[in-house]
Amino acid sequence: MSRPHAPLTQFAVVDDCLQIGGMPLTRLAERAGRTPFYAYDRAAMTARVAELRGRLPAGIHLHYAMKANPMPAVVQHMATLVDGIDVASGGELRTALDTPVDPGRVSFAGPGKSDADLSCAIASGAVLNMESEGEMARIAAIGARLGLQPKVMVRVNPDFELKSSGMKMGGGPKQFGVDAERVPAMLAEIGRLGLGFEGFHIFWGSQNLKAEAICEAHDKTFALAARLAADAPSPVLTLNIGGGFGIPYFPGEQRLDLAPVGDNLARLLPHAKAALPDAQVVIELGRYLVGEAGVYVTRVIERKVSRGQVFLVTDGGLHHHLSASGNFGQVIRKNYPVAIGNRMAGGERETASVVGPLCTPLDLLADQMELAKADAGDLVVVFQSGAYGLSASPVAFLGHPSAIEIML
Ligand SMILES: *Cc1c(COP(=O)(O)O)cnc(C)c1O
Repeated sequence: MSRPHAPLTQFAVVDDCLQIGGMPLTRLAERAGRTPFYAYDRAAMTARVAELRGRLPAGIHLHYAMKANPMPAVVQHMATLVDGIDVASGGELRTALDTPVDPGRVSFAGPGKSDADLSCAIASGAVLNMESEGEMARIAAIGARLGLQPKVMVRVNPDFELKSSGMKMGGGPKQFGVDAERVPAMLAEIGRLGLGFEGFHIFWGSQNLKAEAICEAHDKTFALAARLAADAPSPVLTLNIGGGFGIPYFPGEQRLDLAPVGDNLARLLPHAKAALPDAQVVIELGRYLVGEAGVYVTRVIERKVSRGQVFLVTDGGLHHHLSASGNFGQVIRKNYPVAIGNRMAGGERETASVVGPLCTPLDLLADQMELAKADAGDLVVVFQSGAYGLSASPVAFLGHPSAIEIML
């Protein structure tokens, strides 16, 4: 017997049919106009932010890292819930600037920012999280040309690495951030160049489900920031401690326990206040805020049996949902939580694989899972699909239509 997926409670089931945004999935498919589609539930996002704020000490600012889900309607909704937005491209920056969020609370990270991206950020008043000394020099030149003082943070590549993070984004040699040991010299240069120094951005990894690993990263992040602040040209106004909170995707994974993370931050904040008296502490999250609020829905075109194994051939697949296919950073392929949305319990159940229309064996949404017995016309739902879904998928591959996105 295989281990189960963590229980999902964000969506109701009525008459054996999944409800998203208070609407049965079958009706939602008509509302979407066609399958496949992604549906995002704004109430689930609102509830998630409220729950998180309840667990974090008061005074911590929450930013939405919009690369998790850049759909403009999602970003507009998140803008009403959070204190700032983190962007990682010129395109994301423009979407964030279309929201009511103060541009001074939009921060722009990521290597390889073009001069056009930098000019847009400086002209708008957004904060640039600098990834290198070379980028700093270009920022200073553009600021001088525009007659504006760029607001900058130093993204630090920490001198520690996290033991258990899904995706490591700091420590060791990295394309992200400035190695911690080079930061003091850079801080002196920020002062000489007359840039508007805002503070530090320290991001160590993504998709972490272990509270003790996150607490350890927070301890080290605060200690590193306090050390680096000694060389800052002016007071640290912002300390962005990254995010990295994970959600359960695969069988056997347990939900992140926020209580120890919140308790540890409550313990650290008074120390931060003493070492960095002017600093606003910011936590930036993408996946954790929106990942569980979205589903991907695809329709069965044909039920096919090959040498005793059942294949549900659907109109959607890896071209819309690369992560669920197992090809977005997973080492060993595992199944996302998947169900037949219009037969949640179903009468008869069977073991089936869900595949897409692409001519590659990689196009697999569920590998031999126990599902309600389904046939052509039924709706397959992939849960935990609100983050790194459509925008992280090779939509042009094989020329099938893209997926619709709806916000409820
Ligand atoms: C991707 C990214 C995030 C968001 O990570 P999640 O795992 O989605 O929370 C936050 N900050 C930076 C700098 C990123 O690149």
